[in-house]
Amino acid sequence: MSDQPIEGWFTEVFDRHGSAIALKVQEKLLDITSEYQHLEVYQTETYGRLMVLDGCVMLTDRDNFLYHEMMTHPALLTHGAPRRVVIIGGGDCGTLKEVLKHERVEHVTQIDIDEEVTNAARQFFPALVERNDDPRAELLFEDGVKWVDACDEESVDVLIIDSTDPVGPAEGLFKTDFLKRCHRILKPGGVMVQQSESPLYHTETIIKSLREDMGSAGFESVATLPFPQPTYPSGWWSCTMAGKGCDVTAFDPTTARTEHLELEYYTPELHKAALTLPPFMKRHLG
Ligand code: SAM
Repeated sequence: MSDQPIEGWFTEVFDRHGSAIALKVQEKLLDITSEYQHLEVYQTETYGRLMVLDGCVMLTDRDNFLYHEMMTHPALLTHGAPRRVVIIGGGDCGTLKEVLKHERVEHVTQIDIDEEVTNAARQFFPALVERNDDPRAELLFEDGVKWVDACDEESVDVLIIDSTDPVGPAEGLFKTDFLKRCHRILKPGGVMVQQSESPLYHTETIIKSLREDMGSAGFESVATLPFPQPTYPSGWWSCTMAGKGCDVTAFDPTTARTEHLELEYYTPELHKAALTLPPFMKRHLG
């Protein structure tokens, strides 16, 4: 048995979990090392373009809608009337595009530490950046931890943490102290949402501790929503929402208007269903 990647395929090995994802590639389009991470873009045979950071799949043309819609619409529609939205990370601009579909949002600030990710999105993922010229969008390139520290208290309605895995530059985005600072900048009734890794691989570890830390940070309610993501470890992913003075576990699908959002995956009914945790997750998370 060989542990070498297969020739002509991009392979991401999840050593700890004894599994891997492989995509057949036609061409490498970009290979650079920025100040923060190793960034690659490939043309794949059946998933369109693929962005990779430090060897980990960030997105493909074919399946990124699942992640970007679930990172955005449950939080914005749970809030109900967000006017100021902040995205930490998200440099590929896929989440930004979804947020900007909400007409009542007045201002979105995206803070990614690495401008090269956005440059690569501009060059190779035109569909993700198609709303970047919207006057409501502000793109900043700095450390999200520092930005949150300097942000005014109670000034944000929805805060989206669209980060890489909790290693390297994103490590600080998963710490209890950071969650306390996120709580501080949210208005009463505010909602934060964080990408929270795989339900299959990380329920007892990252998801459990993130939920506990959100509670310790002062959030009164927490909800983890699983969703499919074929090119991430285990093919299954999650986001975890937390409410400041509001209940993110309660959602009435009949109140959400989504006709204008041009959605491919999210529906209010699916959101409601995703709030029901599978028994194995419930057993670990209570
Ligand atoms: N959906 C992706 C995933 O989970 O694989 C994440 C997408 S997005 C490309 C992640 C972004 O987080 C990267 O562009 C990276 O530069 C950014 N990032 C990591 N640490 C950060 C930090 N401390 N502040 C701001 N952005 C950060």
